[in-house]
Amino acid sequence: MSTLHLLETLVAFDTTSRLSNLALIHYVRDYLAGFGIDSALVEDATGKKANLYATIGPKDRPGVMLAGHTDVVPVDGQTWQSPPFALDIREERAYGRGSADMKGFIASVLAAVPALVNQPLHTPVHIALTYDEEIGCIGVRRLLDVLGDISTLPAMCIVGEPTSMRVVAEHKGKAAFRVKVTGLEGHSSNPAKGVNAVTNAARLVAFIDQLARSKAQSGPFDPLYEVPYTTLHVGTISGGTALNIIPADCTFDFEIRYLPADNPADLINDIKAYASALEADMQRTSPDASITFTERSTYPGLCTPPDAQVVRFVQTLLDDQTPPGKIAFGTEGGLYSEACGIPTVVCGPGNIAQAHQPDEWIALSELARCDHMMQQLVNALRSTL
Ligand SMILES: [Zn+2]
Repeated sequence: MSTLHLLETLVAFDTTSRLSNLALIHYVRDYLAGFGIDSALVEDATGKKANLYATIGPKDRPGVMLAGHTDVVPVDGQTWQSPPFALDIREERAYGRGSADMKGFIASVLAAVPALVNQPLHTPVHIALTYDEEIGCIGVRRLLDVLGDISTLPAMCIVGEPTSMRVVAEHKGKAAFRVKVTGLEGHSSNPAKGVNAVTNAARLVAFIDQLARSKAQSGPFDPLYEVPYTTLHVGTISGGTALNIIPADCTFDFEIRYLPADNPADLINDIKAYASALEADMQRTSPDASITFTERSTYPGLCTPPDAQVVRFVQTLLDDQTPPGKIAFGTEGGLYSEACGIPTVVCGPGNIAQAHQPDEWIALSELARCDHMMQQLVNALRSTL
């Protein structure tokens, strides 16, 4: 089956992260079974979502893992020229939710399966498909547990997120938190009788902003990133019920996107230390006042050395010797690399600029370039890595 036909099929499954991805996973399982390939499904706690892991070729040798997420971001509130879950070809582009991020890559991998099974592979290919990547690399963590028990770990991994088929060896990591500030309610005519949760949250927000400014001014810096330093950002805040009531609650979310060379723990410790001092001050008026932190979508950065074997291997597949790039967005690659020790690069068809957008598209030429890489991979795996 052609890559485009497979992409059309994959896009037709609405795998928005809040929904089940099982229909797509079962489709892929059955497709692979048609070539005599077994798949292991790793379900989530509800049984409504699953990761898929399959090996083509000898199972007792470490191979090349091709990794991608099956979920897509919502289309809610977006205006599309064509139905988002029906692939539409216009002007040498394939339009559809997930076409670039990242069902195009998965389609190309699946289209290469006949070529992979039609010859004796010396080095195997592993296919890893996950759920819930878009909401914080959730699903892959269950797969990592399973991979941890496999005696023969993949030798290397290509995460096919859209990089316009450039080899990427580094991306930032992310640590995100929800902060809940609890004060003491009272009549606004006597502010000293209560503990203002909004004001105290604002102090903490201002402190985070101060850290952000000092990072932008003092680094560390890596000029190969578009934003060459670690960033801190507060994205949402809500608190209070009425102007004439001292607010007892305020909640805000912040994130740190850090250079792999930077240590987010230092920043988090600084923020928590400042919060502790605030909390102690609040408790002088109300012993029940508190500031609590809940960790949210967090993933490590990717930091593969530019001369690593996986980098050179993929450069050879692409016949492109330009130095590996660094990207601003996160991927599951940091987890495969950090948690399992699998040397990882990111390289896939399409441009991240089209991801998550209305009228998401992938150029047909990008799919052709990925198909070419897959063909080169098939050739390379006839021998040992
Ligand atoms: Zn993605």
